[in-house]
Amino acid sequence: MNKKAIITGASSGIGEACAAMLARIGYDLIITGRRSERLENLANKLENKNTAVKILTFDVRDRKASKDVLDTLPEDWKKIDLLINNAGLAAGADPIQEGDWDDWERMIDTNLKGLLTVSQLVIPGMIQRKSGHIINVSSIAGSEVYANGNVYCASKHAVHALTKGMRIDLLPHNIKVGSIAPGMVETEFSIVRYHGDQEKADKVYEGLTPLYANDVADAVEFMVTRPAHVNVNDMLLMPTAQA
Ligand code: NDP
Repeated sequence: MNKKAIITGASSGIGEACAAMLARIGYDLIITGRRSERLENLANKLENKNTAVKILTFDVRDRKASKDVLDTLPEDWKKIDLLINNAGLAAGADPIQEGDWDDWERMIDTNLKGLLTVSQLVIPGMIQRKSGHIINVSSIAGSEVYANGNVYCASKHAVHALTKGMRIDLLPHNIKVGSIAPGMVETEFSIVRYHGDQEKADKVYEGLTPLYANDVADAVEFMVTRPAHVNVNDMLLMPTAQA
């Protein structure tokens, strides 16, 4: 039987690229996000490559909905080997004194509380089977702070702290925990950050070749294909042109 992975935020960008990579190396996949049409299109593509796929549509900020939807998985799909906590966003890029409370809440509720919600639902099954691997998608913003990054950087610093905390707590249960922290990646991230303003989003990548989602998926492939006794704790992956 194939190993099973669940990826949050698989409807675009890094999550989608990780889904394609994991399908290629033989995982069955639970792909999640809010945009069901995107997930259906991805499932169609992956199923053509002989991967079994389940789509779960939920908002990671809604704990009850997340639990209810995960509970619908058939028993054999609840044996999850790999969790990729990828759903996340930056909302706004303003100095702290001009920040918008709704943006702050979206980031904290998604990047931090959403990661906790899904982890709490998946970890008990891993503990029961004494095996598992969790990869949290952090960011360079998890170790650096840049102008106007304030709350996003804080949320990703928290992801780093949680990754370490999870690793320590889950070590006796034979569960690997690591993080991947990319620099700038060209995805829908900047469009979301600038609330749909394509022009502002495009400017982010001017004069610099960013990473692409597949570059991050390549790094995740390295993390998931290490032998059982090797864990990649934290991987920082930067575009060559980004300081
Ligand atoms: P995208 O915007 O392309 O993807 C974000 C994904 O997260 C989407 O699939 C989206 O799905 C999902 N998502 C967002 N909010 C929610 C929610 N409330 N509930 C469920 N799913 C949600 O951006 P990226 O691929 O770039 O981002 C993926 C991760 O990578 C994020 O954690 C981001 O912080 C991190 N990152 C990105 C970098 C970059 O420069 N792009 C750099 C470093 C880290 P849907 O809208 O369907 O719900």
